[in-house]
Amino acid sequence: MPADFHIHSQFSDGTYSIEDILRVSQEEGLTSIALTDHDTVSGLKEILEKSSSSEIIVVPGIELSSVYEGEDVHILGLGIDFNNGELLSALEYFQEKRRERLLKIIECLQEAGFELNENDFSDFNFHSESIGRVHVAEVLKRKGFVSSVSEAFELWLSRKSPCFKEKFIVTPFEQIKLIERASGLPVLAHPGDYSKKVPLVEMVKAGLKGIEAFHPDHKSEQIKAFLDFAEEHSLVVTGGSDAHGPGSERGYNIGFIKLPDSYEKRVLEVLGLSSSKNA
Ligand code: AMP
Ligand code: FE
Ligand code: FE
Ligand code: ZN
Repeated sequence: MPADFHIHSQFSDGTYSIEDILRVSQEEGLTSIALTDHDTVSGLKEILEKSSSSEIIVVPGIELSSVYEGEDVHILGLGIDFNNGELLSALEYFQEKRRERLLKIIECLQEAGFELNENDFSDFNFHSESIGRVHVAEVLKRKGFVSSVSEAFELWLSRKSPCFKEKFIVTPFEQIKLIERASGLPVLAHPGDYSKKVPLVEMVKAGLKGIEAFHPDHKSEQIKAFLDFAEEHSLVVTGGSDAHGPGSERGYNIGFIKLPDSYEKRVLEVLGLSSSKNA
């Protein structure tokens, strides 16, 4: 009865369609999943509708970007009300900033001598209102300017690379509060990816309610440390694969992390969802 509470789709920077997600989750024997696209809720209505006749419990989720002292910090919102007006207008702002950043990155890459323009992104725009660096990396790869997405990040797009542009600066505390006001459970995504500067205890004081102890990037000692931290601060433990789908270079496929039953049960209980659709 395992869960995967961190999955991306084509609505942000993943390659899975909603149908793919439901099919693979079933094949992997998952009982509950969360769709957590970056800064968008566009896939949620479809996945909830298409899963209504299946046995899989789908938690509506999101992964919000934030910045703490020049470092990217991701906050998951599980069980959000995706019709919440304040959340929707915040997302509109984040998506607009993402589009503005895309233009700045394109301009920088053009100045560096690459021939590309906005039209190269029309495929992605079709699905994704949340245009990001992975899309830029894919275009660079498709045009043969780099050999891989990770090379595109390393040479051009990462924080220390020449065409890095900030999308928007919102703190983790603000994102935690936004999720809380949209009736969601704020969870720190992949805590093992951050430097020691990122203030976990302050985030808990700001309303963080969960921590993603189980993630493909975490070694067993880190998982143990995050489980201890959760215990100490009464946080809900979550986990997921951070799957971006076949053909994507980062993350793993759905079900790579299968959150153990006891944690799955607790997450669903806190969200007010039953552990079984037939119960
Ligand atoms: P963005 O939110 O558009 O700034 O892009 C950040 C996203 O890019 C992350 O959430 C990852 O999904 C992805 N990403 C970051 N670094 C890499 C990398 N080195 N290779 C592939 N994908 C990456
Ligand atoms: Fe991503
Ligand atoms: Fe993330
Ligand atoms: Zn993610």
